[in-house]
Amino acid sequence: MQRIAIIGLGLIGGSLGLAIKGARLENVEVVGYDREWGVSPKAQRLGAIDRVARDARSAAGDAALVVIATPILAIREVMEEVAPVLREGCVVTDTGSTKAEVLRWAGELLPEHVDFVGGHPMAGKEQSGIQAADGRLFADTAYCVVPQVNASERAINAVLSLVGVVRARPVFIDAEEHDSYVAAVSHLPLVLSVALFSLAHESQAWPDMAELAASGFRDLTRLASGDPAMSHDICITNRERILHWVDRMMGELSRYRELIQDKDEELFKAFARTQLERDSFLTKPPERRPPPTTGDTDILSSGERMASFLVGEQWVRRARQVGGLLGDRTEERKREERKRRPP
Ligand code: NAD
Repeated sequence: MQRIAIIGLGLIGGSLGLAIKGARLENVEVVGYDREWGVSPKAQRLGAIDRVARDARSAAGDAALVVIATPILAIREVMEEVAPVLREGCVVTDTGSTKAEVLRWAGELLPEHVDFVGGHPMAGKEQSGIQAADGRLFADTAYCVVPQVNASERAINAVLSLVGVVRARPVFIDAEEHDSYVAAVSHLPLVLSVALFSLAHESQAWPDMAELAASGFRDLTRLASGDPAMSHDICITNRERILHWVDRMMGELSRYRELIQDKDEELFKAFARTQLERDSFLTKPPERRPPPTTGDTDILSSGERMASFLVGEQWVRRARQVGGLLGDRTEERKREERKRRPP
């Protein structure tokens, strides 16, 4: 029995647990720990973990894969706490929304005999906690994979298998690049959402205005309902890049201010061009670089890759020949089985 430890069993940790357990990997035990009283037993009742650990150390000790899914600033504490008990060859990953600081902490705090490969699932919702967990949260979404420079291929493959098991698409990216891109497309929208809501809310006319605040206002301020601790940690650990995009946004708002003031024709053109560009982004997003392939024709499914990381590839291939090792019921596996079946 090999162990996957999930530390932090809120929306993301709980959803990962549900997705991993949903893949029904045999000989894999999912052990979980959450600092908040009552969360871990609830995660077990919901089927997100097999067993509750009494603390982070006992969850991580002896684990082959440790997933840290706590708020960003707590990732540092957890790394510090579990570092002394991590076994040789253990792979550690996280789910934090910013990556450069997290990779720096991993370099500082984790022992040399373990590998760190950062992760950031680009999926979520404004509700937090285990009660909001959903095993399908990551299906067909991007999952950033941010290996530390010295991470082994085996460790990267382990995290790729995790991404496959939860049915997400891996996107390899460097930590600095990741943080500046998410500052623009995720963190700036969060700041704008909060700023817009408080601007309207603080107006004396808010009680009357609120009645007219329909879908547009609700869409644009949705992120303001997110967990304040998460928003705080994001801003603290990605400060410079967010400030850069806030400055650019202020420039853009000033440009629109001028257009609205006295440039009617240009204003219309700006609206028309942006409408076309956004519609085409929604219908045909720009192409991403394809994920690297191994060139192996006998490709293992995500579940099998996970098992091969945990118990060894040779064993997985042999077990597959004698009738299948894993109860992996993922779509990917089913598709492969269908392909192998004679017509
Ligand atoms: P959450 O608040 O739902 O869950 C976090 C859990 O971690 C809580 O149950 C909390 O009790 C636990 N925790 C806090 N400190 C701990 C510690 N020291 N040891 C053990 N458990 C601890 O938050 P979430 O939305 O699941 O986010 C988790 C991480 O994933 C964050 O780093 C966040 O930036 C990232 N993330 C969130 C989203 C999203 O949309 N919510 C999306 C992608 C990534």
